[in-house]
Amino acid sequence: MSVTAIIPDEVLNFINGDFQVSDSGKLDVVSPLDGQVISTVPLSAYNELDAAVQAARKAWKAWSALTLKERVQYIFRYRNLLIRDRESLAELVHLENGKTVDEARAEVDKSIELCEFACSMPQIVASEVQEVSKGVECRIERKPLGVVASIAPFNFPNMVPNWTIPNALVLGNCLILKPSEIVPLSALRIAELLKEAGIPDGVFSVVNGGREIVEGICDHPDIQAVSFVGSTKVAKIVYRRATSNLKRCVALGGAKNHLIVMPDANLEMTASNVVASMSGCAGQRCMAAAVMIGVDRVQHIVDRMCDEARKLKPGENLGAVISAESRARITAFIDEAEQAGAKVLVDGRNTVVPNKEGGFYVGPTIVDYVTADMRIAHEEVFGPVIAIIRAKNLDEAIDIENASPYGNAASIFTENGGFAKEVMDRASAGMIGVNIGVPVPREPFPFGGWNDSKFGVCDITGKSSIEFWTQNKKTSVKWNPEARTNWMS
Ligand code: NAD
Repeated sequence: MSVTAIIPDEVLNFINGDFQVSDSGKLDVVSPLDGQVISTVPLSAYNELDAAVQAARKAWKAWSALTLKERVQYIFRYRNLLIRDRESLAELVHLENGKTVDEARAEVDKSIELCEFACSMPQIVASEVQEVSKGVECRIERKPLGVVASIAPFNFPNMVPNWTIPNALVLGNCLILKPSEIVPLSALRIAELLKEAGIPDGVFSVVNGGREIVEGICDHPDIQAVSFVGSTKVAKIVYRRATSNLKRCVALGGAKNHLIVMPDANLEMTASNVVASMSGCAGQRCMAAAVMIGVDRVQHIVDRMCDEARKLKPGENLGAVISAESRARITAFIDEAEQAGAKVLVDGRNTVVPNKEGGFYVGPTIVDYVTADMRIAHEEVFGPVIAIIRAKNLDEAIDIENASPYGNAASIFTENGGFAKEVMDRASAGMIGVNIGVPVPREPFPFGGWNDSKFGVCDITGKSSIEFWTQNKKTSVKWNPEARTNWMS
């Protein structure tokens, strides 16, 4: 069945196991591929969020009383359904987000991997117990928090919700998802698949909307923890508001990732990896290469990067950006840099894809001789654009990376272990790559940046997220009163 056949005229909320029409105001959902309206999404009201929270509270008692292994069975079935529907889920992501079908497939594959990690939770979170004095034992168990919420951005409509859903649910929480209102269709499919997997009513809900629902989540007295993924501007708002209401919060923000290229770097691998990093998902990845710092003599690598970039064809192997506003913002960054003296080596401005004239495309763009004062050097562009800054040596390159307020990812391309170790030690970022353009840690390693790319203590996936979604219960038991061990008893 074609994916367009399953797109509803109106996206529904999923509350207490029911797919519900909202009578709140609606926004159009527009496909970036051709600019056509494909559905509408409700801007739900606080009472709809509250209904989801009350359903979650009710469901939590029974859900949290299941064993970890029992809860895993639901996510195991959900994982199998993601595999079954891989193609149509990928097509849906392609349609609502504009990335290529291959990129969308990779996103669904990552969701499957995230479920597999959650299914391994019983192997990871066995309780600790020790006889601390004769006949007296202490144990630590991980207990769920209760009702928790997850707020998602537009750039990974399937994967980012699955950063949080499998782990939070398996660990015994009930979760409310607030998808991006720009790409709400994948979240509806996620709800359908979780329902098919038998998830009990209220354990998982989707409440669509924008700012009002996000603020409601931060303020709701019965929500214990909030995870957020999006821009730094909103991450700060959410982190401040949720924590001021005494909630646990992890808020992932924007990025400006630096790739340091040394003259000894492998030519082909470096050129293709840097270009893939800046252009994958049309540059709309928080792990995308935004700045390449070319150290000393790297002209041969820059030339090869230009050849690689020219192989990218918008509408074929390069997807669309999310909106006309995005395209205009990206173009303005390039215009400004050029006016300030930068050199546009490959120019993706004014890209039009035949038969998709209404789509939002920007071609691959390489801007050389960028200087630190240019906006393109330090603000997030979020498009298939890389700014090249030239540096004399590695020290200078690391200083440039360290000066960025963000800190999601940083990479070095080199054949020299000493150079690589310098960057591993001194880059101010949460995720480091050596000869890797998109250094996303795979499960069980956690995902999360530093500085303005993440607020809060834990990372959002992997082992670190276990800490976020649970609290420790410490129990001391005296099994043997006859032992007369009164110390600390
Ligand atoms: P965004 O911040 O505009 O939106 C994210 C969420 O916040 C959405 O659900 C939206 O409805 C809500 N929101 C928007 N404005 C709000 C406001 N004023 N008050 C309360 N809620 C609000 O982000 P986006 O444009 O959807 O996504 C792109 C951004 O996300 C980029 O900056 C990208 O780097 C970042 N991102 C970061 C990571 C990461 O892991 N660090 C991952 C993916 C995306």
